[in-house]
Amino acid sequence: MDLCERCGNAEITIHLAVEESTVRLCQDCFNDINSFELGVELEEQPEAVFIPDVQGVMHHFNIIKRILPNGIFLEARENVSLGYAFAVHGELDSDQSMLFQKLIDKVKHHLSKQYLEEMTFPESKQKHLTMTGDEIQGTFDYDENNDDAPLIIIDGKPYEWDELGKILRSNEGFQFQLKISDLTDDI
Ligand SMILES: [Zn+2]
Repeated sequence: MDLCERCGNAEITIHLAVEESTVRLCQDCFNDINSFELGVELEEQPEAVFIPDVQGVMHHFNIIKRILPNGIFLEARENVSLGYAFAVHGELDSDQSMLFQKLIDKVKHHLSKQYLEEMTFPESKQKHLTMTGDEIQGTFDYDENNDDAPLIIIDGKPYEWDELGKILRSNEGFQFQLKISDLTDDI
């Protein structure tokens, strides 16, 4: 693990271009620099939260804070690879504890929904995935095994593009709407 060039004790996540050179920083140091330049303190918030889904399964989220010239971003990222991810954005002068609460409410709201469920065909006893309703929400991620299509994260689990196709096959003849929005948008 490469360590931050400013504090020397945390992982580098930011490459900041300064004039001709690049400074490699951890998230906290990058926030410190922006916080100083923008004159806004980033308040302490819990670094991790545990929230149950609709099945009662507990999910561990790490909270990532970012301060940028266009505002404060809080992100809850599940502590597994290719899990749930949620984010909120507030203005620089926003109430940061309310922003944190907005993030938690957003996580709870989305974890209270389940879009896919496993069903068993009565005759063959084969298992297959099906939609619980007429809507799916999720996030796109990078599929390292497929350069041609993204990985889809639904209910906090990764699905390949073809797997999603199989799930949707029962909807032939229907129309659909595909809308992309920023991680911080409310959907
Ligand atoms: Zn640092």
